[in-house]
Amino acid sequence: MAGQTLSEIRSLLAAGGLAPRHRLGQNFLIDLNLMRKLVTVAGVAPGDVVLEVGPGTGSLSEMLLETGARLIAVELDRGLFALLSDRLGDHPRCTLIRGDALAGKHHVNPLVLDVLREQAPDAGGSRKLVANLPYQIATPLLLDLLCVRPRLASLTCTIQREVADRLAAAPGTSAYGAASVFCQSFAELTTHATLPPSVFWPRPKVESVMLRLVPRPAEPIPGDPGGFSRFLQGVFAQRRKMLRRIARAQGWAGAETAFERVGVSPDARPEDLSPAQWRILHRELFADRPPPAAGVSR
Ligand code: SAM
Repeated sequence: MAGQTLSEIRSLLAAGGLAPRHRLGQNFLIDLNLMRKLVTVAGVAPGDVVLEVGPGTGSLSEMLLETGARLIAVELDRGLFALLSDRLGDHPRCTLIRGDALAGKHHVNPLVLDVLREQAPDAGGSRKLVANLPYQIATPLLLDLLCVRPRLASLTCTIQREVADRLAAAPGTSAYGAASVFCQSFAELTTHATLPPSVFWPRPKVESVMLRLVPRPAEPIPGDPGGFSRFLQGVFAQRRKMLRRIARAQGWAGAETAFERVGVSPDARPEDLSPAQWRILHRELFADRPPPAAGVSR
């Protein structure tokens, strides 16, 4: 049965002369019931192509391969990549990529997208992300993966609770921000489990959550998702200000009319608007032209 116990992970690392690297978010999932739950929630089937970011010692990778799916696994750590190559390098349904899953901090590495493009799922299958994500890259990776081509049918992962809370936050709460609006605009979110620090080795300081994102079939905003993201970043950077002041500072033409059409008061603050209201306001303001470059990205 695939999935590695704590003592197996320890001895694999020791044999390779390796130790967990905090900087790379190397907290290995050692509760195999939760790992199986992750694979079940993701609904992985034999015709699928699964992207795993951060395979580590290959515990989840081996469990994913056991389903009969094809696997594309991207690992940044050279030592772990060597270890993985020894274990899975010859597997006929596994493609290993050594490198950063992100390029330029905010976008998925184009090489990863090329490999995803090359590997078409079988009839009835689909492309999915399944991962125990390294905490440093979770937000930009998930948000960018919601918009990439080829499309992913679902993204199922474990991430820090704080990140999950931000993505799922409701209007009017302190966690609600640009990432919440963007994520909820592009996907439907569900949480499936809370993971205490004790199910990882080494133990992280915080709880994690098992999250599933299903991208919406229709394009939530017309045009470039990056423009919408920069717009939201610019707005929520001034979350204490009223919309009328933000509009003035950002030079939005026709703002008063747009507020009226969306049905929001110019005295409202960014956290008062729902994701749908932000999408409509963005469309009203920038239907014919891109928003001014705010120089911020997600
Ligand atoms: N999959 C294993 C598991 O479930 O126990 C390990 C998950 S561990 C939380 C995160 C993994 O992501 C580590 O193997 C780490 O080296 C890798 N990693 C960290 N940053 C990365 C990046 N930017 N791109 C690809 N992999 C990364």
